[in-house]
Amino acid sequence: MKVVIVGGGFAGMNLAKSLAKKSPFEVVIVDQHNYHFFPPLLYQVATSFIEASNICYPFRKMFQHQHNIRFFQGKLLNVVTSGNYIETTNGNVSYDYLVLALGTETNYFGMTNVMENALPMKTIDDALNLRNRLLLNIEEATREEDKSKQELLTTIVVAGGGPTGVEVAGMLAEMSRRIKNKDYPELKYVRGAIILVDAAPKVLAAMSEKSQAEAYKSLQKLGVKIILNTAVKDYQGNKVYLSSGEVINAGTLIWTSGVVARQVPGLPAESVGRGRRLLVDEHNLVKGTGNVYALGDLCLQTSDKYYPDGHPQLAQVAMQQAKLLSRNLQAKLSGKPLAPFKYWNKGSMAIISKYKAVVDLPKAFYKGFLAWLTWLFIHIIPLAGFRNKAKILYNWFWAFVTNDPTLRLIIRPDADREEASKSEIKPAIKATPVEKSVV
Ligand SMILES: Cc1cc2nc3c(=O)[nH]c(=O)nc-3n(C[C@H](O)[C@H](O)[C@H](O)COP(=O)(O)OP(=O)(O)OC[C@H]3O[C@@H](n4cnc5c(N)ncnc54)[C@H](O)[C@@H]3O)c2cc1C
Repeated sequence: MKVVIVGGGFAGMNLAKSLAKKSPFEVVIVDQHNYHFFPPLLYQVATSFIEASNICYPFRKMFQHQHNIRFFQGKLLNVVTSGNYIETTNGNVSYDYLVLALGTETNYFGMTNVMENALPMKTIDDALNLRNRLLLNIEEATREEDKSKQELLTTIVVAGGGPTGVEVAGMLAEMSRRIKNKDYPELKYVRGAIILVDAAPKVLAAMSEKSQAEAYKSLQKLGVKIILNTAVKDYQGNKVYLSSGEVINAGTLIWTSGVVARQVPGLPAESVGRGRRLLVDEHNLVKGTGNVYALGDLCLQTSDKYYPDGHPQLAQVAMQQAKLLSRNLQAKLSGKPLAPFKYWNKGSMAIISKYKAVVDLPKAFYKGFLAWLTWLFIHIIPLAGFRNKAKILYNWFWAFVTNDPTLRLIIRPDADREEASKSEIKPAIKATPVEKSVV
């Protein structure tokens, strides 16, 4: 029984792990990257706090000892439900059951200039791009003689006051306080600003009022300017245009404002719901299909009575859905009844700065140092690989004790080579005939 999982994020990886060594399942993970990564710590990569390799793990190593799991690198292009196969950039893969777990991509709400000029934070590449841009801008500011240009280059607007926006704004403010004058003495008298903008009336809109108030107060104390009830409307020529009419001169706009489900061509039109999410039943079966499932951020499931509008797009939802689907696929084979999905909300949290975080449990709230320790602990556990956990603990220890991590390196991949390799891949897509199923 061949199960093809497209997307090795929280949902896909957990499903594969649950099906490991479970015969008769033969599992193929298809992903555009050859590694699994951990999005909640991307902002620490983007702010030079930890190395990218600390939060990534190669699929092939992860499943080295699982003989029923194989990895196939390729980007999904199309699902051919009538033939039970998918088309990818590297060939076709046939399936008995297809599980789509492609997650989401950044949503710019149709604002072309924002898409072209702002920096998103959704993938490892995004985080490294952002790190380079921040470091290049500050280097350029040291060479500038015009004070207003120096201020522009060191002004950062963060669009989106959710956990990611709050975390990145807090981290940048800490760095500006603790590192700027030491590393960049030329900028001692330059007042760059960190400005957080959100269309909602509160930061951390999905969390409790206590968490919202604590985050607001702590960010302000760190020197972050917060602008609420206001949307970013445009970004060009280093000017951020706000819905209030205000214009901010800023060398960097970090975009953490929204996501939309990744597109899956080939599925029936009736299966696509709000935010492009795939509509699934209580067993995560995609509407209008017989053997195609969708998990995690990509799907919209309204059968859970406590979440009639669908579940929040969180790691816990993806992991719990994956584990249930594994049990249901096994139950299906042995003719047993299938269980419906019910989300168990274990709580949510956000880190604001060093020693400051907020934690919302279903019936409690806490903040401060204990919340900060909880955040660190909870974010260490799901990291793939013991070495990554040890390395990150060491990095955190060093960075928090010295307030001065040593990763502010501008390392840029060779753009020409990247372009060349991209154009090498493209012809192979069309050249692969359907009959020559690679896996
Ligand atoms: C910066 C950031 C911080 C976050 N912080 C938190 C947090 O603190 N707590 C929390 O609960 N949630 C957090 N989230 C949300 C959480 O990461 C998602 O809910 C979770 O990753 C969803 O899991 P998934 O498996 O559905 O998708 P993902 O984890 O996004 O995995 C999707 C996978 O599909 C692959 N893929 C995508 N397109 C293709 C394609 N065309 N072909 C092949 N492969 C493809 C990708 O490479 C990826 O491996 C955060 C997200 C971000 C971006």
